[in-house]
Amino acid sequence: MSEAAAVARADRRTVVRLSQRDLVVLWPRAEAVIDPRTPPRRIFLSPHFDDAPLCAGGRMLAGPPGVWRTVVFFSRSAFWRFRVERDEAFIALLRLAEERHAARLFGYALETAGLAEAPLRGRPDPLNPAEKPDSRDREVIEAVRRLLASLAARFPDARFAVPMGIGHHIDHRILRDAALAVLPSCGVGRDRIELCEDLPYAATARRRVWPPTVLPGARLKPRVEAVRADWKAEGLRAYFSQLHAEQIAAVEQYARSLGGGFGAERFWLAGSA
Ligand SMILES: [Zn+2]
Repeated sequence: MSEAAAVARADRRTVVRLSQRDLVVLWPRAEAVIDPRTPPRRIFLSPHFDDAPLCAGGRMLAGPPGVWRTVVFFSRSAFWRFRVERDEAFIALLRLAEERHAARLFGYALETAGLAEAPLRGRPDPLNPAEKPDSRDREVIEAVRRLLASLAARFPDARFAVPMGIGHHIDHRILRDAALAVLPSCGVGRDRIELCEDLPYAATARRRVWPPTVLPGARLKPRVEAVRADWKAEGLRAYFSQLHAEQIAAVEQYARSLGGGFGAERFWLAGSA
């Protein structure tokens, strides 16, 4: 073996070790900082940090950087997965840093609305399907609706990706219901609205019969787009404070179960079933 080959092999071993310890994220293309003035062709309406790459990261990677803009609505958060107490300001900074990293990896422009996520509105059990929007949510619902109307006006040609609400997270449902009500009333045609499968919920649910379970009566047509599940999973490691390895593996496995060779993402369009 030549000296160069021996060094290359040692380097590879080092990189693999670093990535196994979550210290580096390997990536197939140059990171891109997207100018927020770039008009997007597609807008992901993201309840929280991490939802956009979880649901659409594969499609974001399939095209050139700059096609997508992610608008994070409930970007005030005090959640991380570790059992160490930290104040809200610390976690908020960390989560913003993770999201900015993900934006460079997946190549989207980022906007945040600064609304408080469910636990900060006095909702300790946001995934409980029995939780219904009430007075605790009134202010954020009004803010969500105003922002949706302004996005529709600012970007009259963009397509909107909306979380479907699989997993029943109340913030996802609030955003979905507002989007399905406000966007059409602002002139956004059905052909410009797509409903995305919320992850990791869709990957870990016991029953997989949506959309009827989350949107009774809706007539939606599925679209499946081939993506690179392996690179999507690698990019999701940017969310070190949120996603553990088993969740990322479940998301990757789900993408592979949808087909498309290396994997796929599925979304749903309004129309006849
Ligand atoms: Zn979410």
